[in-house]
Amino acid sequence: MNNYSYILDNPSLDFKKNIKKIEKILSNEILVKVDYCGICHSDLHMALNDWGMTTFPFVGGHEVVGKIVEIGDQVKDIKTGDVIGIGWQSKSCNSCEMCESDHDNLCSSSTQTIVGRDGGFANYIKVDSSYAFKIPEALKPELAAPLMCAGITVYSPLSKYAKKGMNIAIVGIGGLGHLAVLTAKAMGCNVTAISHSDSKKDFALSLGADNFINSSNGDDLAQAIGSFDFILSTVSSNIDWTAYINALKPLGCLCFVGISTETMNISNLQLVMGEKKLVGSAIGGKKKIAEMLNFMATNNVKPIIELFDITEIKKAFKKLENNELRFRAVLKF
Ligand code: NAP
Ligand code: ZN
Repeated sequence: MNNYSYILDNPSLDFKKNIKKIEKILSNEILVKVDYCGICHSDLHMALNDWGMTTFPFVGGHEVVGKIVEIGDQVKDIKTGDVIGIGWQSKSCNSCEMCESDHDNLCSSSTQTIVGRDGGFANYIKVDSSYAFKIPEALKPELAAPLMCAGITVYSPLSKYAKKGMNIAIVGIGGLGHLAVLTAKAMGCNVTAISHSDSKKDFALSLGADNFINSSNGDDLAQAIGSFDFILSTVSSNIDWTAYINALKPLGCLCFVGISTETMNISNLQLVMGEKKLVGSAIGGKKKIAEMLNFMATNNVKPIIELFDITEIKKAFKKLENNELRFRAVLKF
């Protein structure tokens, strides 16, 4: 079986088609013909080696939806022909404290789909069957793809911290952020979209956001002082968080899913006075992913995507880099 992958040559963001032979699948593994793969900002961080853990040649892609074409002899519950999704994580140890408490996303010996192995910007991908998730029939495969990373990453903290009727703010209205607005609305929250220009204002309101704040107008954010029970940041760079912490109600929580390796400059007085919390959240475990797919299907939560042919991968990455996507690029194979 030949595997046609799109490899990336750092730092030019130049993609080249590369033919590799997929090694034999093991008894617990499956081989998947990729139909669609979303592009997450983490693919861009990895392509640019922002986190210092990229191995080159690099094959990204961790929002995969495709059909199983081959299964190992120990694989149970899924079969050839099933439409499945694969996300950021593709293996865990299944026996540590985190795995045994349904926090397998935090397993220290887990494998990530695009770290030290090839991801889904390829015709075929091979993974451990325990991280292949059946896609509900109600979800179109191209719309299910972004759920496999963006969807679970926003659903997990929202399902933990957001309650019906709460005032929630979503910061950064990109791939993750627009799904967070849709998801928080489906959970019955009052949602404010916070973006760093007015260019996404109409989009954000059409997604169902009740309010919109342009964070570049400092006064607008300052006026939101003491407004939010929960703020979810999907911002992919480090910004000044002072005004956001001020915008929390007492006991409020600011949760980061967007990633920057820069140090945050935060006054602890801001947290002490008001007993506010800063937390992080990383994707979600297997059980949460299954719950999320069911929630999105039941509540008709659909990401807004721009579909690109795989040959247009470079164009799609450029739009992501320039913050021009509305809102998630999905590659079609
Ligand atoms: P994205 O589509 O590029 O969205 C990021 C958004 O951040 C942008 O659309 C922009 O929103 C905002 N932003 C970017 N630069 C900014 C700046 N300088 N100041 C203010 N706002 C800025 O990216 P994504 O795919 O949603 O991913 C977002 C982040 O989440 C990335 O860092 C990614 O690595 C991370 N991530 C984390 C997890 C996890 O498990 N925690 C999982 C997946 C992704 P506005 O234009 O609306 O301001
Ligand atoms: Zn991702």
